[in-house]
Amino acid sequence: MTISEQVSGEATIQRWTVGDTTITSVVEAETAHIPPEFFFTGVDAAAVREQPDLVPDFADADGNITLRVQALVVDQPGRRVLVDPCVGNGKQRALPFWHEQAWPFMERFADAGFDAASIDVVVHTHLHADHVGWDTHVVDGTWVPTFTGARHLYTAAEIEHCRSNAMPGEDVYGDSVGPIVDAGLADIVDGNTDLGDGLRLEATPGHTPGHVSLWVESGGEAALITGDFVHHPAQLARPTWAEVGDDDVALAEETRRRMFARAAEQEVLFIGTHFPTRPAGRVVADGDAWTFVPEP
Ligand SMILES: [Zn+2]
Ligand SMILES: [Zn+2]
Repeated sequence: MTISEQVSGEATIQRWTVGDTTITSVVEAETAHIPPEFFFTGVDAAAVREQPDLVPDFADADGNITLRVQALVVDQPGRRVLVDPCVGNGKQRALPFWHEQAWPFMERFADAGFDAASIDVVVHTHLHADHVGWDTHVVDGTWVPTFTGARHLYTAAEIEHCRSNAMPGEDVYGDSVGPIVDAGLADIVDGNTDLGDGLRLEATPGHTPGHVSLWVESGGEAALITGDFVHHPAQLARPTWAEVGDDDVALAEETRRRMFARAAEQEVLFIGTHFPTRPAGRVVADGDAWTFVPEP
């Protein structure tokens, strides 16, 4: 079920319920009119125009795509979990649209009813720069933890991948992961880990080696928070489309097909971490591919 709520004249807050659990989107940025080849290897606007149902929520009529960067807050009775805290502010980043930003993310986080101290657990689907940023903020020139009461979960494979694959001009480990480890707030977990009370990590490798997705199960309902095993609803119908950042292209496609099939079979609420506009919906099988049917 989708609940939309207007806050202080700003953007609408999107929330979904799964049994007694609430999932809230906190948006950092949403960008429209992106040429698809910027994110998908060998894909042009004409290929996107083959899926007219993507317009207007997920693509424009010219075949350019829209993508969102958002964090998701999973609220259960007695536990609050933050998933993938975006790019963050003031970070030195190789991509110009992530470099030294000043987004009002923590203001939106507060508008949605959250404060940093209330986060009990931070889940990272993987350690790309757009999934760890708000974990730290700068104080007197030093990166310090933001969610000081939270256990921050990482897989060992992701930590290793993050440390050994730094892009020139940025240090994601140094500014966004290392300070958490140094503060004693990090827990290394297996890619398949039961977090209790209906929350479960499932290994979904390919985009990165230690990538995980988060299952949310409550009251006979289920949701799946994807992370980056899929980036855009267009990939449901075109599971071969590789994202430029996919580390192991073949494994990434295998993971997409496996997870799309499961999501369709189990009729879960499928929440695409980078899906814009209406990021939650159902996956419906369509021959040997799938269709994303967003919730209204
Ligand atoms: Zn990624
Ligand atoms: Zn990402």
